[in-house]
Amino acid sequence: MYASERKGLKDMPDNQSNNGQPWDVIIVGAGIAGLTSSIFLAQGGLSVLLLDKGSQPGGRAASTGMASASVNLGAHALFKSGLAILQEAGAVPAGSVPGPPDTFVFKGEDGGSIAFPLSRLLLGSFLKWHEKTELIRFYSRLRRTDTSRLQAVTLQAYLESQISSMRVRSALLALVRVSTYCDAPGLISAGAVIEQLKHGQVLYVDGGWQTLVKQLTNHARKAGVSIRTGSPVSKITGSHPEMTVFLKDGTQLNSRYVISTAGPKDTLAMLDPALEAEEAAVYNKLIPVHAACLDLVMPEIPRPRTRFVLGADYPWYYSNHSAAAVLSEDPTLAVVHVMKYLPPSGADDPASDRVELEGFLDLIQPGWRSHVIKQRYLPRMLVSHAAVTAEGGGTAGRPGVAVAGRPGLYVAGDWAGPVGMLVNASLHSARQAARSILAIREVGK
Ligand SMILES: Cc1cc2nc3c(=O)[nH]c(=O)nc-3n(C[C@H](O)[C@H](O)[C@H](O)COP(=O)(O)OP(=O)(O)OC[C@H]3O[C@@H](n4cnc5c(N)ncnc54)[C@H](O)[C@@H]3O)c2cc1C
Repeated sequence: MYASERKGLKDMPDNQSNNGQPWDVIIVGAGIAGLTSSIFLAQGGLSVLLLDKGSQPGGRAASTGMASASVNLGAHALFKSGLAILQEAGAVPAGSVPGPPDTFVFKGEDGGSIAFPLSRLLLGSFLKWHEKTELIRFYSRLRRTDTSRLQAVTLQAYLESQISSMRVRSALLALVRVSTYCDAPGLISAGAVIEQLKHGQVLYVDGGWQTLVKQLTNHARKAGVSIRTGSPVSKITGSHPEMTVFLKDGTQLNSRYVISTAGPKDTLAMLDPALEAEEAAVYNKLIPVHAACLDLVMPEIPRPRTRFVLGADYPWYYSNHSAAAVLSEDPTLAVVHVMKYLPPSGADDPASDRVELEGFLDLIQPGWRSHVIKQRYLPRMLVSHAAVTAEGGGTAGRPGVAVAGRPGLYVAGDWAGPVGMLVNASLHSARQAARSILAIREVGK
């Protein structure tokens, strides 16, 4: 018997048991993926319990209050290509599209850093005539590029075959980093990167990504989803239709299906019995992507017209998000995100990364220190569980949402399913996992 056939379930308050019945679906993790799949499943008439170990839903999409501004955990920009699924799930975020990068930072011939406004880069003499035409030609061909042939080609190999100028390659790598958060041209798939660049328009969300979290959480509750925070899951056993989810405090919860939106390694650690070695190897070889983030709240910006800066010869990012989104009721406050894209090797050093980011700010916003009223340094944020690699053949190389050999178990997140990158991968895999479960239910009726 499914929830849709039981009476009164939609009226049940949060954090209650399911009237002694197994849940139709238990979802581990109330980030964007967990919230989204919970809404589709509950709308399909199933009873859904959403568990999170944190004290609030949202995961990495949560924003926090800093000096009366809503500040994301590092710079977050919503790719507009993900809006359709969010809207389907009931989230309609307001916000604005930021302008293009206005400044690029290159290494000068004396070894120092030089910040070039875009206009000077395109009209001045730093880039030679043939370099400018190479850059423009590459960009104008982008939309027509057949990416299917390039999924298993590394970005580095592709750029070397297309672009002769090192400076043009550096400028393009800056645009790749801002679209993928990944500083690993020798690893990532050229095909997947070009797809991402083609769908590169983003939105800075009013109120920060917490707005998405709030809208999805409210929608999930309205659809009848029970949400329990402070509930770390330690073990998942069984297979459809008799699965059990164990919480760390020993609580056992029964369900017909389980979706894990925890990361690949955490998901593997929860499974009892363990996955077959071959399947586990697919999870284990995913390469996480990290960034060092410096988040600032400033009432005044020394150079207000410098809004969006990318390092070309350096993996740096600067953006005044308040230039495009409303992030505080106080219109004089600006939320500024500064970031270093970290190498996948893990060879980073939090203290020297911070000194590097502060030096970057000294270059583009001299005197910034005296204007900061609140700051937060997050030295090693997990941006994505899985870089989209050429070795894996692009996004198709990520684990599928249905876990092989474990009927009833599904995964979703920015490391699962064949579509999208970053939160768009979370959204697509979340919807796909929900649809797969609903489709089985339809067949079983
Ligand atoms: C600095 C930074 C910048 C980013 N910028 C962008 C951007 O510009 N554009 C973009 O598209 N994406 C961006 N992202 C990525 C985006 O935030 C994530 O892809 C997305 O939020 C992931 O959502 P999720 O639900 O898949 O995973 P998560 O948000 O990680 O949610 C998983 C949830 O599972 C819970 N959980 C884990 N294990 C357990 C357990 N054992 N028991 C119970 N609960 C558990 C966690 O507490 C968490 O809430 C950025 C990320 C960071 C960190």
